[in-house]
Amino acid sequence: MSEANAQKHSFQAEVAQLLHLVTHSLYSNPEIFLRELISNASDACDKLRFEGINHPEYYENDPDLHVRVTLDADKKQIIISDNGIGLTEAEAIEHLGTIAKSGTKDFMSKLSGDQKSDAQLIGQFGVGFYSGFIVADKITVESRRAGVEASQGVRWVSNGTGEFETETIEKTDRGTDIILHLREDATEYLDRFKVKQIINKYSDHISLPIEMQKQVWQQEEAAEGEEAKPGQYVTTDEWEAINSASALWTRNKNEVSEEQYQEFYKNLTHDFANPLAWAHNRVEGSTEYTQLLYIPSKAPSNIFTREAKAGIKLYVKRVFIMDDADNLIPNYLRFVQGIVDSADLPLNVSRELLQESRDVKTIREGNARRILTMLDGLAKSEDEKDQENFKTFYREFASVLKEGLGEDLANRERILKLLRFATSSNDEVSTSLSDYKARMKDGQKAIYYVTAESLNAAKNSPQLELFKKKDIEVLLMTERVDEWAMEFVHEFDGTPLQNVAKGAVDLGDLQDAEEKQALEQAAEAFKPVVEQLSTSLKDKTKEVRVTTRLVDSPACLVTPEGQLSPQLIRMLKDAGQPVPDSKPILEINPSHPLVQKLQGSAQFDNLANVIFDQAVIAEGGLPEDPAEYVKRINSLLLA
Ligand code: ADP
Ligand code: MG
Repeated sequence: MSEANAQKHSFQAEVAQLLHLVTHSLYSNPEIFLRELISNASDACDKLRFEGINHPEYYENDPDLHVRVTLDADKKQIIISDNGIGLTEAEAIEHLGTIAKSGTKDFMSKLSGDQKSDAQLIGQFGVGFYSGFIVADKITVESRRAGVEASQGVRWVSNGTGEFETETIEKTDRGTDIILHLREDATEYLDRFKVKQIINKYSDHISLPIEMQKQVWQQEEAAEGEEAKPGQYVTTDEWEAINSASALWTRNKNEVSEEQYQEFYKNLTHDFANPLAWAHNRVEGSTEYTQLLYIPSKAPSNIFTREAKAGIKLYVKRVFIMDDADNLIPNYLRFVQGIVDSADLPLNVSRELLQESRDVKTIREGNARRILTMLDGLAKSEDEKDQENFKTFYREFASVLKEGLGEDLANRERILKLLRFATSSNDEVSTSLSDYKARMKDGQKAIYYVTAESLNAAKNSPQLELFKKKDIEVLLMTERVDEWAMEFVHEFDGTPLQNVAKGAVDLGDLQDAEEKQALEQAAEAFKPVVEQLSTSLKDKTKEVRVTTRLVDSPACLVTPEGQLSPQLIRMLKDAGQPVPDSKPILEINPSHPLVQKLQGSAQFDNLANVIFDQAVIAEGGLPEDPAEYVKRINSLLLA
């Protein structure tokens, strides 16, 4: 660079690393550079539209926003220009020299070595600008921010290694030109037809015109008797839009192809897999808006962290307003991606205002209903592909969806219909509550379920023994959220739900009079043992009682009605949360030899504590004092 004001800068270490990667390993899918640079140009125009609401002077009498792609075969350059918001020198240094987003390290760690998917990751992690170096050995950026003087333009130059240079330049037109100096092996991108095709493939949905210079066919007329002269395409100074330039969601459903919906999704989310399903609707009524909502095929890894963001972009009358508009979708549907374009919200709407707006509430409820209806459609569909998609959805997102049982009272029944469980007679997570009801035994009055930390723990839970013996199906719930979520569910379609590890077992008509009588007799006979146990274990249990629910196990723990279960208590403890004082009930099996051995035993205290600790172990916990437990066992073994 010759000018005196040129300044050298070093890239942030991560950028340098990234650049190395871009130039050395991502050349298998090079065409994505166009998508990324056009997407940046379009973002820059969106930003101008947004800032222009309060600063109309930023338009500088040049109100028609566009992106222009110029091919210069002689100089071997592709230039992508926009008349969007532009960059100041300081912004160029910051935005094109560092990676602000914290996800970059994550990005580095996710690289698989598979070039195709790695190339897709570049976009996903917001490092799209650098993809230019896949095809260019030098990039020049010339830019001027809207509203500043022409003398305050900036030129940014780099060859994609450790450094870049900036200098102040004069630039009359607002906005940014990205000039790619193509590598020798990338000159195919000078082919107009090819470039046009790529733009159509990736960027057709962009809502502003992407223009290229018009070409006309020129052929000199041959004189009489002369041979026809060869013709050629000549580039003119006239610009023509090569995309449809209408925001995809403003089009009619029947004018948009499946591929276009998918491509729009991929651009929106930088996901490289197709979405499972989508819903596109213009909603009319007191609040008017358009929704285009997608269900991804994979949950992001941070879906359960605080970083998880709602994936809805808000537009107002086609002007982009904000990303991650979390008020537009309930938290338990945070995996949904898409856009909402409102006709009613003011353009200068803020996040605070969104929180209070009634229109926003209406939109949020409309979105939730639409998504749940769509999922119900998938679940019910006879189509094999739909069923497969529902399964994928369920595997990826069911545990998020279940949060809705606690959050969204109005849609609880809708959510319950979507749930699928393994059961004591079927390991596959495929039984719906309606399926279960249809299989209920004559006289069965409740839907029974058990929660545990794994399928095996659930299946072998002592609480299930009686149910197994009587061949009553029990739903096995093994996700962390289940226990909490089911607290909010008391019935489904008129049938109560009952956690078999909570409260007393009452099988109603399924238990005959004889059994009830046997229980009463046992309770009477074991009264002294129960009393002695209560004393021995008074620090550990709330109550000791005789039960019929056990067949093979000596004892089990039962959570008193209205109290947290041992699993939930463990979860709270793991999370460092305060745990309310809550002791379980110990139920003993009067027909078990170990329990019978308690009567008059010289080792009563050891036996009592071991029986209790084993009940803790059986439902996935650990004895409070393992060393003491071992001591007691040994003492019993040696007796
Ligand atoms: P992202 O687009 O995800 O922010 P990029 O690497 O694609 O990441 O771009 C980095 C930043 O560079 C953008 O956020 C923006 O601030 C700036 N930038 C890139 N291209 C342009 C442009 N054409 N006009 C204005 N700013 C731009
Ligand atoms: Mg970008």
